[in-house]
Amino acid sequence: MAPTVEFHCEHCDSLCRAAKSMVGGIINCKECGQATEVPGMNDPAWRMLNMGAVIFVAGITTLIYMRAGPTPALIVGVVLFALLKLLSLAL
Ligand SMILES: [Zn+2]
Repeated sequence: MAPTVEFHCEHCDSLCRAAKSMVGGIINCKECGQATEVPGMNDPAWRMLNMGAVIFVAGITTLIYMRAGPTPALIVGVVLFALLKLLSLAL
């Protein structure tokens, strides 16, 4: 059986269950039928990882900003952020 997460619907507060892979996504509540977010991205390990990623991107962007100026720093920042976003979706 696939690991699941339990949470309360944001609309009717009934208990919903979704596959762990749906965390951060949207499902339709079985009770009220409305779209509700699957929580779970708030666990400490995940927050640490996100925090680390943000610091990493900010650090590299600052370094490039000091060496090459604002435009390349902006480009690298956006590209790194997009890569991390993709990576977090793949996890
Ligand atoms: Zn509901």
